[in-house]
Amino acid sequence: MWNLFVPDAYIGDLMMFDQVALSKQRVIACDIDNTLIAHDVDVADERAKRFLAYLQERGFQVILVSNNRKARVARFAQSVSLPYVAFAKKPLPLVFHQIKKKMHCQMDEIVLIGDQLLTDVLGAKLAHVFVVLCDPAVKRDLVYTKCNRQIEKWICARLAKKQLFHKGEYYGKKNL
Ligand SMILES: [Mg+2]
Repeated sequence: MWNLFVPDAYIGDLMMFDQVALSKQRVIACDIDNTLIAHDVDVADERAKRFLAYLQERGFQVILVSNNRKARVARFAQSVSLPYVAFAKKPLPLVFHQIKKKMHCQMDEIVLIGDQLLTDVLGAKLAHVFVVLCDPAVKRDLVYTKCNRQIEKWICARLAKKQLFHKGEYYGKKNL
């Protein structure tokens, strides 16, 4: 059960993504809040734009996936001209079936990038989707995310005890 909270790769910053060892994955599903940008910023900044452009230059198809409400997600997606799934209800696996349909791909061709163990990592693991955990882009969180972070802290402590995952020890990279 604890393995459901262990990401396939773990990076400290989005710019480390180019070092993640992937196999057949071609679709990147990217979380928005605190992965690409702070939850209280409406549109993409230079950092987010650069990262999303970089993914597309590398030949990935990109879709934005967020548990946030449609208006927020649609506005952000519009700022980078990308498809999206809003109110994704991660960690429920349903969203990955929506991605499959929208992007015409298989589960094992999807990579999810996100910042939370409880939503992003757990959801991807339940759907057997490759998941990259990225440290949050900023420290401030939405109210419900703050609760999740408390639970996440507890899970991290358990994972560390079991030698399954250590916060700050990045892995899954080609050069490791
Ligand atoms: Mg997030």
